[in-house]
Amino acid sequence: MADTVKPDHIRLFIPGPVEVRKEILEAQGQWMIGHRSADFEALFTTVQGKLRQAFFTQSRVYVSTSSGTGLWEAASRNCIRDDRRVLHLVNGAFSERWAYVSKANGKQVDVIEAEWGKSVKPEQLAEQLKKQSYDAVALVLNETSTGVKAPLEEMVGIIKQYPDTLILVDAVSIFGGYKIDVDRLGLDFVLTSTQKAMGLPPGLAFAASSDAVLARAKQVSNRGYYFDLVELEAFLVKNNTPTTPNISLMFATDKQLDYMLAEGLENRFARHQKMAEMTRDWVQENGFAMFSEEGYHSPTVSTIANTRNVDVKALNKYLKGRGMILSDGYGKLKDKTFRIAHMADLTPTDVTELLTAIGDCIKG
Ligand SMILES: *Cc1c(COP(=O)(O)O)cnc(C)c1O
Repeated sequence: MADTVKPDHIRLFIPGPVEVRKEILEAQGQWMIGHRSADFEALFTTVQGKLRQAFFTQSRVYVSTSSGTGLWEAASRNCIRDDRRVLHLVNGAFSERWAYVSKANGKQVDVIEAEWGKSVKPEQLAEQLKKQSYDAVALVLNETSTGVKAPLEEMVGIIKQYPDTLILVDAVSIFGGYKIDVDRLGLDFVLTSTQKAMGLPPGLAFAASSDAVLARAKQVSNRGYYFDLVELEAFLVKNNTPTTPNISLMFATDKQLDYMLAEGLENRFARHQKMAEMTRDWVQENGFAMFSEEGYHSPTVSTIANTRNVDVKALNKYLKGRGMILSDGYGKLKDKTFRIAHMADLTPTDVTELLTAIGDCIKG
């Protein structure tokens, strides 16, 4: 979109919801089908097949009509027995909140905390697992508040030494923009939601889930109902969901997964990597600094230390005039950082346009 053309909408460079293709918005406008119909079963089946490809799993992918937070609740409730503990790795607002969700569901929680902007280190995890046995380790692969990506492979290598410890991964702001090889890594529960790197409107959440999770869930007495994985499984095997799903968004998901697979997942991951690198180069060249620690930068969202004390509110007002918007810092990082989400269907050209506009605003 050239600067001279008046934009018909605001392009979102925020970490969810993101810019969504017009075709995908329109795909939601189809006539309803009954969720107990053969047509729905066919829709569920085709979406399920494509989701398994995107998660690199032969196993199941649960479909939940909720945002990603609902599947936090599912993971916490189903994977941890009453007399056992869960270990949460906390290094930002989202990982902190997931630990809270486990507590709020009555679970016994331990936490390894890292300073915001840093990642919990594999050695810290190894040390804690030697001291205490856990039903699960819960980690956020991409901490959206700080732009930090966890060293998943190294962490998995450590947790795998404890076969009874399930690996629960929040992939909400990274799934679709980075390869998460669920089966090869042996991850037990990997959850995401539609409105971030998948490039869909909000309203559905997905989780690739192992047999071990199901076996564990059966040993947990109070799983609730809406997020009971045993119940979700009973319907999944019939290509259905226990309760009425967001059918409109399932139409859109089907179509967006087609776009993702047509682009090629590896190409998609490379595009995200490229946009992240462009952003980091710009940060370097323009007197800013990355808030995330070196070696742990996210491929989907850059959290930038506001070293030049830019008025982010004024910046966004300016950007809006040019049809774009970025994100201020999250929570306690509100004024200290700003964030550029480069995810979903945004392209390097979009990123260049945004960075150019930011430059124009700061100069002007
Ligand atoms: C956005 C986000 C969530 C919350 O997801 P919702 O779909 O809004 O419930 C959880 N974790 C991370 C890392 C996120 O970025």
